[in-house]
Amino acid sequence: MKDQFGREINYLRISLTDRCNLRCVYCMPMTGLTFVPNDKLLTADELEQTVRAAVEAGFKKVRLTGGEPTLRSDIVDIVRRITAIDGVEEMVMTTNGYRLPHIARDLAAAGMKRVNIHVDSLNGDSLPRLMRLGNLDKAWAGIRAAEEAGLTPIKLNAVITRGYNNEAAAELARLSLDHPWQIRFIELMPFGGPTEIQLEHYVSSEEVKGWIEQEVGPLFAVNNGHLDGEARVYRLAGAEGTVGFISPISNPYCDDCNRMRLTADGRLRLCLLKDDELNLRTVLRNGGSHADLVEMFKKAIYHKPVGHSLKDGSFAQNRTMSQIGG
Ligand code: SAM
Ligand code: SF4
Repeated sequence: MKDQFGREINYLRISLTDRCNLRCVYCMPMTGLTFVPNDKLLTADELEQTVRAAVEAGFKKVRLTGGEPTLRSDIVDIVRRITAIDGVEEMVMTTNGYRLPHIARDLAAAGMKRVNIHVDSLNGDSLPRLMRLGNLDKAWAGIRAAEEAGLTPIKLNAVITRGYNNEAAAELARLSLDHPWQIRFIELMPFGGPTEIQLEHYVSSEEVKGWIEQEVGPLFAVNNGHLDGEARVYRLAGAEGTVGFISPISNPYCDDCNRMRLTADGRLRLCLLKDDELNLRTVLRNGGSHADLVEMFKKAIYHKPVGHSLKDGSFAQNRTMSQIGG
């Protein structure tokens, strides 16, 4: 289904929980966050009903995210139920990967296609400066488990944060030389406030690209520089994998946006960087029918904002990234 600006909206990103086993500095505070109580999270049954309705409203692709989606003890069941729905063409997940050694095979058997794994540095000592409770060995174990289970092609996600992990840009990009992975750099975005780090430590994709080219070599545009999903993709000479840049701040892709988010507490969030939400959980829990849910998705699609307004200094205020679902 198209929104009022002619964009086909067919990609639903579902946050399974706002909890996380890490505390990345740009994503959530170390302490003081109140988490959604378990009885307010959507159950596997409710998620299945929701995706059935989403499919009828035109959604084809589902991504599980969070918080850390693998903290849900029923994640394999959720994946199995959602992939069994006629019309769900692709099921993927964004994760920090730490629990993958335990569940990657079961996820693949349940129908998960591939995963994006978040790692902000290849230096075990400096990783926790950004990913506070992070551990590089655990990240590598997760990456290996994903490969062994066939959750491929793997994408690695990193946020370059000025003064914290500048050197990681080249180190991570080098991984693409001999791995069939896409190494992706996401621009730091402001949320829920925003915080000092989000405003003061942003680095543009262009600058990160420059650092990589200086240290490793030229990056050649793949796809003639067109978007692949939300990323602009490049390749180092002779590389097995690619390097992608996601640039919501310096080069917004709002005109091509095809996504909608479902927060852990059951709100349809119409744009990542705006506060507009519709309360789907209330409809679900007040006995709403399948038709009511389909209607809600259609309404959400119709009211999707044309784009974010960061350039005008207007920030989303109501949630952190971990609460929305990245
Ligand atoms: N826990 C999983 C993970 O870390 O991949 C899934 C959720 S996390 C919110 C998804 C992605 O959002 C991660 O790659 C993380 O780096 C990114 N992220 C979190 N806060 C961000 C921010 N303020 N700006 C840009 N990216 C952010
Ligand atoms: Fe957790 Fe992911 Fe946020 Fe880091 S970015 S705190 S791993 S939800």
